[in-house]
Amino acid sequence: MNNKTAEKNNLDSKISFCDNVIKQFHKAAELMSIDSDIRRILATTKNEVVVHFPVRMDDGTIRIFNGYRVQHNDVLGPFKGGLRYHPQTSTDEVRALAMLMTWKTALVNLPFGGAKGGIECNPLELSITELERITRRFTFALGNIIGPEYDIPAPDVNTNAQIMVWILDTYLATIPPQDRNRNVHVVTGKTIASGGICGRDKATGQGIVFTIENWCKDKKFDLSQATYIIQGFGNVGSWAARLLKPHGPKLIAVEDASCAIFNPAGIDPDDLLRYSKSNQNFIAKYPGAEEIDHKTFMGTKADIFIPAALENQITKETAQLLKVKLVIEGANGPTTPEGDQILQEKNVGLLPGILCNAGGVIVSYFEWLQNKRSEIWDLEQVDHSLRRIIDHAYIRTRETALEYKTDWRTAAYIVALKRLEEVYRERGIFP
Ligand code: GLU
Repeated sequence: MNNKTAEKNNLDSKISFCDNVIKQFHKAAELMSIDSDIRRILATTKNEVVVHFPVRMDDGTIRIFNGYRVQHNDVLGPFKGGLRYHPQTSTDEVRALAMLMTWKTALVNLPFGGAKGGIECNPLELSITELERITRRFTFALGNIIGPEYDIPAPDVNTNAQIMVWILDTYLATIPPQDRNRNVHVVTGKTIASGGICGRDKATGQGIVFTIENWCKDKKFDLSQATYIIQGFGNVGSWAARLLKPHGPKLIAVEDASCAIFNPAGIDPDDLLRYSKSNQNFIAKYPGAEEIDHKTFMGTKADIFIPAALENQITKETAQLLKVKLVIEGANGPTTPEGDQILQEKNVGLLPGILCNAGGVIVSYFEWLQNKRSEIWDLEQVDHSLRRIIDHAYIRTRETALEYKTDWRTAAYIVALKRLEEVYRERGIFP
């Protein structure tokens, strides 16, 4: 590890995302009285890889990049989880996200474990050709750490279908020609032409909308009259908003890395997306709304808040500001344990990320199956199967929250941990 990485990881340890995720895990583990040996195993990641690799930049200089892949657990199936490209990507962050993937896949009952990875970089400063070379060198550096039956990456923050196809192409180039066509499921979230599945792009947003529909039905809440706000207008936030549009709720405030905007008369998600695409994917200076500051955004009075950006956004400080009835976690880990506590005291409902944002990995699973079986799924099949899985996980979480008289995050963890505990009990610990 170089000095900069070590320094950054030290800094991160002061406000550790991973510590927060482990705290939430222990709360559920305590309540369900999980076996103490299994608890120790699940509180630990299995493998953590840091690679430093050189890439030639467009100006001819060589830069060294830091890449990460943390594999948390694979007792239910191959490691599975996205890759993010972000200046703040670190071992601590990726470790927390890998654990969340284990809980997520277990909750929705997929035959996958949990992993996460990424590259510490700022994609805004990179040209498309640099992005390609960085992706390919990273894939080469990972070597057999990934594999179609071992660890399957997918898109996450700042990565997309094109990047997945570069990973696919590079990985296949490293194995014998006769093996290539049966290894296309080494990565999911690919473009449709290169083996991807239809509906994967919108899948996380679609899962969020199915979850909101379930909640509204339960609470007899009229979604068509609701107002909502979104943090993050990337793949997850923009798809959630666009798919909510036919249901009628009004989007009144949006925040991304560039600014926050507000319009009480409503912001049209399709129009905002068109604008942001022409503005380097930022919403800044959108003509259809006024600019507001972060605190005002967090304090916007609305029915629903969808955090769909990065972790640690609803904290001890910002949870006080929220004036919403329900938080739907589109992001991974947007709420800290202190934030959770305050939301509960304020009686704000919260549907946890491992349930709401599972649509992405669920459709990744369909893509993986599609590639393994040389099938072509259609959108109806994808959406129908996705809804069944989301509905089932929603019901299990609701029942468990009632049974244990606990919040939905802890309940979702309990559902996931019970599956993992059962397998460990049956298989035992080698030798
Ligand atoms: N990055 C997404 C997540 O956090 C999707 C992971 C996947 O499809 O493997 O769930």
